[in-house]
Formats: sequence, C-alpha cells, structure tokens
Amino acid sequence: MKIWAILVVLIPVFCDGFVHKHHDYNELVRILDEVHQECPDITRRYYLNYTLIDKTYVSKTTNNRNLEVIEICTDPGVTKPHKPGRPEFKYIGNMHGNEVVSREVLLALADYLCKEYKAKNKMITWLLENTCVHIMPSMNPDGWEIAYEDFKKAEKEGRDQQWTVGRNNGNNVDLNRNFPDLDQFVFGLKATGRTDHLEKYLSREDFEKLEPETKMVIGWIHAYPFVLSSNLHGGDLVVNYPFDTTTDGSPSNYTASPDDATFVALAKSYADYNTEMINGCPNKFKEENGDCITNGAKWYAVKGELGEKKFPKTEKLEGKWNANKDALINYIAQSHIGIKGFVRDVSGNPVEARIQVKVLSNKVKDGDYYRLLDDGHYLVTATAKGYCDQSRKITVNNHKGGKYREAQLVNFVMDPCPEESGYGENENEDLDTRASVLQMLYKDYSYRQDARSLEKILEYLRNREEDYPYLQEEMEKK
Ligand SMILES: [Zn+2]
Repeated sequence: MKIWAILVVLIPVFCDGFVHKHHDYNELVRILDEVHQECPDITRRYYLNYTLIDKTYVSKTTNNRNLEVIEICTDPGVTKPHKPGRPEFKYIGNMHGNEVVSREVLLALADYLCKEYKAKNKMITWLLENTCVHIMPSMNPDGWEIAYEDFKKAEKEGRDQQWTVGRNNGNNVDLNRNFPDLDQFVFGLKATGRTDHLEKYLSREDFEKLEPETKMVIGWIHAYPFVLSSNLHGGDLVVNYPFDTTTDGSPSNYTASPDDATFVALAKSYADYNTEMINGCPNKFKEENGDCITNGAKWYAVKGELGEKKFPKTEKLEGKWNANKDALINYIAQSHIGIKGFVRDVSGNPVEARIQVKVLSNKVKDGDYYRLLDDGHYLVTATAKGYCDQSRKITVNNHKGGKYREAQLVNFVMDPCPEESGYGENENEDLDTRASVLQMLYKDYSYRQDARSLEKILEYLRNREEDYPYLQEEMEKK
C-alpha cells in the first residue's frame, strides 16, 4: 500500500504524462494553463464572452464558470482574431454535461498537440503552421459537476448512473435545443437562392432569451471565421452531418443540405479513423451505408457521438483517447480540402466579396475565403459591389499529392465595373443569381461557339427585358 501511495505521488512529478481521469472545472482550467505554459509560443488561452446589443457582457455560466478555450497554432492570436490565408478550426466538447468523454479527449488532444509539436512531429507541425485550432473541452461545466456528483454516488451505491442527470446546464436547459433552428430558415429561403448569414432573420428578443452558454458560443462564431467545426457528444457511436431537421416536419427523413457530398466526405474523414467506429459501429448505422455516419434528419437525435457510455469509468478514458486520437487529427486536417484564396482589387487591396459555387459535376451528387469541397468539378464565382463578376472552372482533387496539404489556391483580382453590383442586400437577389448564371452560360457557349444555345439565351432575355435590363444589351454587343 505504501509503495502504491508513493508511486501515485511520484508519477506526475517525474513523468509529465497526461493523466487520463475525470477532470473537474478547476482541473480543466489547470490543464489548459499547463499546456499553455509548456508551449507558450503556439498557444493562447481565453474564455468566451458575448456582448449584447445594450453593451452588457456575458462571460459566465449560470453557476459562475467560464467557457474555457485554448487556441493552438504557430503565432496564435498575433493578428487577432484571424490571420488571412490560414483557416480557423474549432472543437466543442461536453455540451451535454453528462457526456464527458469528449471533454477528456479534447484535454488530451491539447496536451498531445503541444507535446508533438515540441517533439517536431512533421505532420502536427504542418497542421499547426497551417491551421489555427481552437479547443473548448466543455460547453457545459455546470452540467458536468451535477453529473459527476451522481457518478460518484452511483459508484458508491453500486448502481448505474441516471441517464439524464447533468445533461442540461445550470439553469436546467438542454443547450443542444437552445440554439435557433436555422435549418428552418434555410428551407424557407431555398427559393431565393440565398441562404447565408441567416442570423439577420432573428429578432433581438430571440437572442436575449437564450442561455448564457448559447449566447457566448454565438458570439464566438461571429468573432472568428471558423472554416470547420465539430461538436462532440456521447451516448451513441456515429458521426452525424447536416441537416438535422426534416423539411416536412416528419421525425425521420434523409434531408440533404446543398453541400451534402462534402458533408458526407467530412463525416467519413472522422469515422474512417476512429477505431471504435471501424470495429464496433452499431448495425443501425452500418447497414445504411457501410460507414459509421448518418444524416441528422434521418436519425432521430443530433450531432456527433463518441461511444455508448456517457460517463464511463476512469480506467476506460485512455482507451477512448486512443480510439479517437487519429480521427480528431484527421478531421482538423479537413480544413484544407477544396479551395481557398484571396479576392483583391487590381492594387492588391482586399475586396469584400461573395464566393458562389455551382456544382458542374460531382462524384457523389450533386477578403480571404475558404470553400471546403469534395472532389469534383465546380464553377466558382466571385461577386463584389462595384466590381465585375468573375467565374472560374475548377477541379478539386483532394487526394492528389498526399493526404495532408494546403487547399488549392484560387485567387481573384477584381476589375472595377460600376454597372454591376452582384454583392449586397438586394431585393432582386434571386434574379441576380439567375442573371449571373445566364452570364456564365453565355460565356461558356461563346467559348464553345455554340450559336444555337447563344441565340436561345438572347431570346429568353429579349422576352424578359424588365427583369434583366442590362444583360441582353451587354451580351448582344459581344
Ligand atoms: Zn449530447
């Protein structure tokens, strides 16, 4: 007994290995601080805050805890909050307080990235030079403490833990159901062809009634231009991708988002590297497509899950980390699929533009910017107020030239073009979209010298002169 006691004391002193155990809030803060002290050059510590319209400030949960984050990349926060040309990535864990595996694997991940960078691991160095990784091990520290009390009690009493104790936040609200349901806005706006920046459709009241954790995460998403994220849950073993709700209100129906093929590829990039998902995927998911992935609307529940037991015994945690490690890292690297680039004017100044992607063909289905894309052929258009639209045909082949590499660069240099104003809040948005499609088709047919198709477009425009005042004239000139 004595020897054991000494060992327990000495191990943390002599071998600074990460200890796989359940870490409470204070320990979580300490571990993130320690990782920062160990790797000060590639980490930055912060916690979330959110400023309301009336300038009040939210930075605490109901029970007075912070949502703690560590940012990991070379020169973190140097050009706050974002270094142009380098994608921002985020992981959120423990949104349901009783789903604790994600909290522990994310703490282990922060420790691992720091140590591997110091050990000059080539792949991790590349990743941290080219991606800024923001890790928030717990979105619900209050719920965790409630769940942990029950975990300890259940162990003492030799019973199973209660399934939902600690799931909600300190105010007894399920944070996963507290975010505004933007899926419904997308369904409603589909006909307009414009479904980005949906938060403008929410009222101030909609925001104010949200829980503090939800407000802080919304503030976070607006403060950093995150390219890719994942929200980790527990209780089932599957990667879940959008949409999460059905269009028809039915409880279960595959509901594809416009980026379905890319989301499927992203989900696989996690599932195919998670040893539990490879070897022990529940039949209900595996039978569907062979991979441990599911469309959220097809499934009844929401978001990515990390194993069946929500609050496993301490000795299981190291195995959970080993099962998830490669998947967590491979998923961060997906920030580099598709294309990225800069939109600048002829003098090299950044232009506030919109990047639109139209799928030409795809193997499955159908300032600086990042557009994660699955392999396929695409037509990419940059539009900006006061500049001529520019389109380019591109081919994405994410696996050419190695697994981990930077996204293909597609830059745009915009020429002034006062007649056009593709960007901005425009009532005739859907007409604009159609107009730019017509222009692209016209260019394409001109290039292929397809006189019949060209005449068809002109005829279409002559009949709709009111809708497209400049277009016909402009095209006939060419
Ligand atoms: Zn959950």
